[in-house]
Amino acid sequence: MSLDPEIIALSMITRSPDLQGSNDWQVQLRDSIRDPAELLTLLELPPEGYSPAAGREFPFRVPRAFAARMRVGDAHDPLLRQVLPDRLETFDVAGFGADPVGELSLTDGTNLLQKYAGRALLVMTGACAINCRYCFRRTFPYAGNIGVRALAGGIDTIRADSSVSEVILSGGDPLILTDEALSRVFSELAGIAHIRRVRIHSRLPIVLPARLNNALLRELTTQRYPIVLVVHANHPRELDDETLGALRHYRDAGMTILNQAVLLRGINDDAGILAQLSESLFEAGVLPYYLHQLDRVSGAAHFEVSLDRTQALQRELQARLPGYLVPRFVREVAGEASKQPL
Ligand SMILES: *Cc1c(COP(=O)(O)O)cnc(C)c1O
Ligand code: SF4
Repeated sequence: MSLDPEIIALSMITRSPDLQGSNDWQVQLRDSIRDPAELLTLLELPPEGYSPAAGREFPFRVPRAFAARMRVGDAHDPLLRQVLPDRLETFDVAGFGADPVGELSLTDGTNLLQKYAGRALLVMTGACAINCRYCFRRTFPYAGNIGVRALAGGIDTIRADSSVSEVILSGGDPLILTDEALSRVFSELAGIAHIRRVRIHSRLPIVLPARLNNALLRELTTQRYPIVLVVHANHPRELDDETLGALRHYRDAGMTILNQAVLLRGINDDAGILAQLSESLFEAGVLPYYLHQLDRVSGAAHFEVSLDRTQALQRELQARLPGYLVPRFVREVAGEASKQPL
């Protein structure tokens, strides 16, 4: 008896990422591209088309799964521009500094950042799968604020503060931790009665979708509290079929998934691109959450979009999308009680 081709097709669509082996993502992570010249060569661009000085200030790193979505021969590719060390990063620009959102005064040797009522953020690691040139924590002093002791201190502070109902795991990228390490943190948090929600801020689901395997899904859906996954995609071309399928799989298992993006000049400062980003995210069951105005960190000035242009983009998006597909346009102002709407 031959198999019905429809059944074969269906089993291919629904096959779980686990069939690749649940630790495949760690192999891919180790195999990331760390030499900009190698990436440029793969894209058939001149291998000297980047700034080694910028790369020394903030290292280059990109997973091959993400690089594969870049257009060959296009030096202005919006995915490439997000990761390639650029000479413009090495210039000092007035107003851009090492502590754009007032975090340094909050660091106290634990990994806890607490700015907003009810929420506490734990900096779980300094490592990421990809290094984004505009990252607002590119100058963050991770060394003194992460590790076992810093984490224990952060969790002790949360345990002692019953006003905290939501814990945000951030970084760096918290999903770069192993499932076992995450599991230990989830169990510790489960023992704190006033914790009602946990949130994970991660770019790994976008840039290394193999991370969204079934072992992690089980971990995220079997805690006594709900876990909200906030991913980070800036451009619709970041969402290839593998990424969309993995997000859909998590969504179908009941996860709440939101996206935050950063508004970046020359990358996504266009209403058509932002609209397409929202539409594609929705198809995978992900709702747009925030569109952040760039935080003014040293080295990122050339990514900034003017306030006028930002407001025009907001009006255009509101005019063409249903309200729930328009991300909240916000900026972070040090010392304020929340992210500030434009
Ligand atoms: C952005 C941020 C949060 C989360 O803010 P929401 O508006 O709830 O998404 C929490 N803590 C810190 C330190 C933050 O920077
Ligand atoms: S993944 Fe997030 S934390 Fe890591 S470099 Fe990019 S923006 Fe920064």
